[in-house]
This record gives sequence, structure tokens and C-alpha cells, in this order.
Amino acid sequence: MAPDPSAQRVIHLDDYIPVVGEPEIEELRALASGLSGQTIQMVNSTAVGGGVAEILNCMVPMFQDLGLPIRWDVITGGNDFFEVTKAFHNALHGGPYDNRPENFEIFLSYNEQNRRRLSFDSSLVVIHDPQPVALITARPPHGARWLWRCHIDLSQPNPLVWNFLEPLVTRYDGAIFSSPSFTHQLPIPQYLSYPCIDPLSTKNQDLDPSQVRAVIERFGIDPDRPILTQISRFDRLKDPLGVVKAYRLVRNYFDCQLVLAGGGAADDPEGGAVLAEVREAAGPDADIHILDLPPWSALEINALQRASTVIIQKSLREGFGLTVTEALWKKKPVVASAVGGIPIQVIHKHTGLLVHSVEGAAYQIRFLLSNPALAAQLGEQGHEHVRENFLMTSNLKRYLTIFHHLLRAH
Ligand code: UDP
Repeated sequence: MAPDPSAQRVIHLDDYIPVVGEPEIEELRALASGLSGQTIQMVNSTAVGGGVAEILNCMVPMFQDLGLPIRWDVITGGNDFFEVTKAFHNALHGGPYDNRPENFEIFLSYNEQNRRRLSFDSSLVVIHDPQPVALITARPPHGARWLWRCHIDLSQPNPLVWNFLEPLVTRYDGAIFSSPSFTHQLPIPQYLSYPCIDPLSTKNQDLDPSQVRAVIERFGIDPDRPILTQISRFDRLKDPLGVVKAYRLVRNYFDCQLVLAGGGAADDPEGGAVLAEVREAAGPDADIHILDLPPWSALEINALQRASTVIIQKSLREGFGLTVTEALWKKKPVVASAVGGIPIQVIHKHTGLLVHSVEGAAYQIRFLLSNPALAAQLGEQGHEHVRENFLMTSNLKRYLTIFHHLLRAH
């Protein structure tokens, strides 16, 4: 499915001047002018749901505003393909893998179908994540530069899957990772780029308190009692069952509510089963709100994050964890697992609290509920950390710089 261009936002980078300052925007324009004549193509596996779609929905119109022609293609595949790529995803995060040789055939055959369906005539091509990685076979022999943008933690991949993917990855002109600790020894140049959020999007823009309250009340959540929230796809690696356990421990001391809000992603076939497990674990507790949100819920997510007393991200494995970035931007105290890219964002006791277990999460949530002044201070510091490092204009600058470097390197 191709992203619907009519649904894409029009972005004017000048609107970001009040947030990041004029010099930052001038720098972007200067970098972009040195790329005139180049054309850009982004390819990923879903137009909605999950962090990559979230980034591309903003990044693509930003490139357009810089006057650089850009297209965004989304690969298609049957359930069998997305079951294989989800198994790869879990295995690349270091999880177990059920070795079925036909998986590799399914993977390659859908990549081949997409290679035939899409055209690859851009001069700078960025392929996101493992799902479309075999499209590298479409690279023309001369001229174009192809980058593999890996959004997942590749530090300890299951060797069965990695040995299959590595020969494809090493055909690229470079690879981009979200953290120095995610990288793998590779014979191609590697670049670091932090994922980022768009401060002006519906998901992150300031909201009037009355808008926040209206959303909360629509979901039957009591705005006058503490709200603990985890926003995530219903994915076992996000440990929603661990969040329910932590909430129950906190509940022994505080009359609080839990919100577990998430929806599916088109490339994640496990969501329904995990959602059912979460519902069963929650049982009849009227203070646990499990919200299965449709993809167009940016305003609702914004309001839920803003209404929360504490934001939880209890992931067992994580790419970067954009939900954490979003919460920090909203000045929320965050209790999050020290996995993946989370420790880059949550600096323990400075921009939030890091945990390693259900009990640890419960302990830190109780601590924040008992110390609202400290919770507010962590939120303020988190907001500044995001402003300095994780706003979309920084991501754009990083891409422009990497493109310059790639073009020079040949
Ligand atoms: N998200 C969403 N709807 C949902 C669940 C998540 O829009 O129901 C968004 C969330 O706000 C964030 C992104 O999807 O922007 C998730 O990114 P993250 O890096 O946290 O996790 P991923 O899903 O990519 O593993």
C-alpha cells in the first residue's frame, strides 16, 4: 500500500522557528541547497502504526518543504510475509527463533514482488528496517546511493536470521543505527541518527486542558485520580502484562488507574492475541482501561499522555521508544526499562527513572506519586533533553549530512 499523498501533511519549516530557532532552519536550507538535483526515496513496511511510520509521516513533508523531491513507498505482503518478518524482528532483538527454511523463501519472494511493483529511480534511497532489505537487488549499477536505516537493536541478533540478512545488508552503501550500542560489525560505513518527534504534530502539539479532559472523560477515565499510562502496540516485547502487575503492586498503596492504550500496525500480526492476553490479565478491574485505538488517534494519544500522572514504558526490548520521547516532551515523569534506546532518553534521576523489573517499576511509580515536585522536575528536564536532541529538525539535519557524506565518499 502506498501512503495516501492527500492524507499527508503540508509542513512549513519556518513554523518550527519558535521551537528550535532560526539558525537551525537556515542550516537545514543551506544543507538542502547543496543537494539540489538529487531525488530521495524512502521505503518501509507500513504507512501507519509504529515509530517508523510516525517519523516518515513528518520527514517526507519536511524534505518537500526543503525543495527536495521525495517519494515514500510502502511494501506490500501477505500474512505469511508479515508473520515471517515479525519472527525475524523478535529474533533480531535477541529472542528465540523457530528455524523454518521456507521463511527465507517467503521473505525473498515478497521482496522480489515489491521490486517488480515499485520503481527505484531515485538517486538517494533509504530502506527502513529488515522487511524490505532485499530490495537492494534493485539498485542500478551506477550512481544511486542506497542506505539501510535499521531502527532495531541489532547488538545481539539471533545468528540464524542475521546470517541470512547480513549478505544483503553489506551490499548497501551505508547503514544508519539509532544508538552506538545497536550496531553490528559491518564492512560498510555506519552512521548514528536518533529517531525524533515532531513537536507541531497532532500527537505532540500543545493542547488546551479542556481538550485533554474531554478525551479522558470520553474514555471513562477519572481525571481526578492518578493515571498511570503505557502507550504501545500490543506487543509482548512491550510487556503489557508486566505493566498490569506493576500497577497491582502500586494499587496496594495508591488509589490509581491504569491506561494501556495502543493499536495495531499493519506489519504486526500478533497484536490481536496480545490484546486478548492483556484483557484476561486485567480481569474485571474497572480502573484498568485497555484502549484499542484506531490508527487516526494522534489527538487521543496526545491527550492521554498529557493527562497522565506517570508514563510507563516497561519494554523488554526496545528500538528507540518514541513513546518515551513523546512523554518527555510533554514534561511527564517517565518510569521506563533500561533497554534499547530508552537510556539515551531517560537519564536516571535526571530526566526520568530507569527500572529493570516489575517490582522496580512499581517502586519507582510509588516514589513519583509520593514526590510530585520531583516528578515535575524530572519532566521539565526531560523536555529540555528532547528539545536539544530528539526533535525532527535534528533528524532531518542528520539525513542531509549523511547524504552529503555519501555523495562525497564515491
Ligand atoms: N502509537 C500510535 N498508536 C498506538 C500505539 C503507538 O500512534 O496505538 C505511536 C506512538 O505514539 C509512537 C509510535 O507509535 O509515536 C511507537 O513508536 P515506538 O518507537 O515507541 O515503538 P514501536 O511501535 O516503533 O516499536
